Amino acid sequence: MAKDPKTLHDAFIDELRDLYNAEKQITKALPKMMKAANAAPLADAFQSHLKETEGQIKRLEQVFESLGEPVKSKTCDGMAGIIEEGRALMGEDFDDATMDACLIAAAQKVEHYEIGSYGTVIAWAEAMGHDEAVRLLKMTLNEEEATDEKLSSLATGGINVQAASTAHGDEDDEEEAMVGAGRKSAPARGSTSSQGRGRQSNGRARR
Ligand code: FE
Ligand code: FE
Repeated sequence: MAKDPKTLHDAFIDELRDLYNAEKQITKALPKMMKAANAAPLADAFQSHLKETEGQIKRLEQVFESLGEPVKSKTCDGMAGIIEEGRALMGEDFDDATMDACLIAAAQKVEHYEIGSYGTVIAWAEAMGHDEAVRLLKMTLNEEEATDEKLSSLATGGINVQAASTAHGDEDDEEEAMVGAGRKSAPARGSTSSQGRGRQSNGRARR
């Protein structure tokens, strides 16, 4: 007996169950990320997103309700993988700022997965005329996007630079050694090391 093929509505409900499970996984991961965070503003960002995520779970329950569907969860393997990667990072022996940079990277992968999925279910709900679901899901999408932006501003607003400041260990020493070694052959143009300036005072470095 041939069964009718599943419809976009079926795919939509499936995707909502996947998201419901993903959000639950995130509420378990965020407290660990909060503990692993070194910068207070980053820990605060994780904490406030945990609160939001709990609200998002409730909101998904309202979405199911608005559709007359039972609240069900379907294991989200994608989120499990992203969270597993984050868990592995937390086990690494990074310096404090680098750990924070890596936590942000892991968290942004989570947010981007969510942004992709919510964007899809919103577009499908709009196409099928599920207006209440659209309204609710858009509220969550806004929170995910704001979280993503907040994480970006924490990264580029200081954490990355702090992490980068020790990224190359004794690079300055290596650089000086290279400049010193290069003295016999080529002028060290543009170098700000004392040896480089010495070359410039010889009038051989171009300006
Ligand atoms: Fe979420
Ligand atoms: Fe999120």
